[in-house]
Amino acid sequence: MQRLGKNHDGYHGETIDVRAVLSDIAVAARQHGWTSEIFFEAGEFNLLALRRYPLSTINSQPSTRIYLSTGIHGDEPAGPLAALRLLQENNWPKDAEIFLLPCLNPSGFVLNRRESGQGIDLNRDYLHLQTDEVRAHIAWLERQSKFDLCLCLHEDWESHGFYVYELNPDNRPSLAEAIVAAAGKVCPIDHSEIIEDREAHSGIIRPSIDPRSRPQWPEAFWLLTHKTRLSYTLESPSDFPLDVRVNALCHGVNGALACVLLNSTGLR
Ligand SMILES: [Zn+2]
Repeated sequence: MQRLGKNHDGYHGETIDVRAVLSDIAVAARQHGWTSEIFFEAGEFNLLALRRYPLSTINSQPSTRIYLSTGIHGDEPAGPLAALRLLQENNWPKDAEIFLLPCLNPSGFVLNRRESGQGIDLNRDYLHLQTDEVRAHIAWLERQSKFDLCLCLHEDWESHGFYVYELNPDNRPSLAEAIVAAAGKVCPIDHSEIIEDREAHSGIIRPSIDPRSRPQWPEAFWLLTHKTRLSYTLESPSDFPLDVRVNALCHGVNGALACVLLNSTGLR
């Protein structure tokens, strides 16, 4: 599979009608019994948190709690489309409780722009909290218990293939290889030794960073600091057809979910 060669100084690929995608997401969520909470009204758009309760609890153990978010960068359409597809496929682990935030920056999608309608990169605002959207998101997160696993779905317009960032400070059983293997069935993997200025191995970046040393926080740093000890940021390569990128994110998520269930006792 060859790169399209479209993206030289930014994303120049397909765009989505975010209003239509959000409406399809609402329909699919309702159809499959998810609850929906509006945690912020941003002009004509609402920021949504969808929740799926576990169908059963095994031996009355607490369910595995999984957080998924996407659509924080308005020029990365594969994320919200992957959220929609995952909802429609409705193939979730039975005893998992899933929280899905399907689009954190709808106003950015209207403009096909990374930043929000106000021109701010929301995924750099999780330390200083300058934007209403991120403050509202954090207020919602603070009301939730901790998550066993967090997955943030993104795209990278420069990358040669799919890759993943792992934040796993306690060296828990890693899901990174499973995520990359699953995505690799449908999408090229970026095998570069350096990705985004960080050392990478077979599409996996394990940054050894202390969030406190970083001046600007992405969502994943806030999650790691306050709500989880295991976080993955999945990056689909924007220079491939949109359907391939959506597929890669869905496969990556499903790879992680399959693996997390096998390891679920080790997560706690
Ligand atoms: Zn992104």
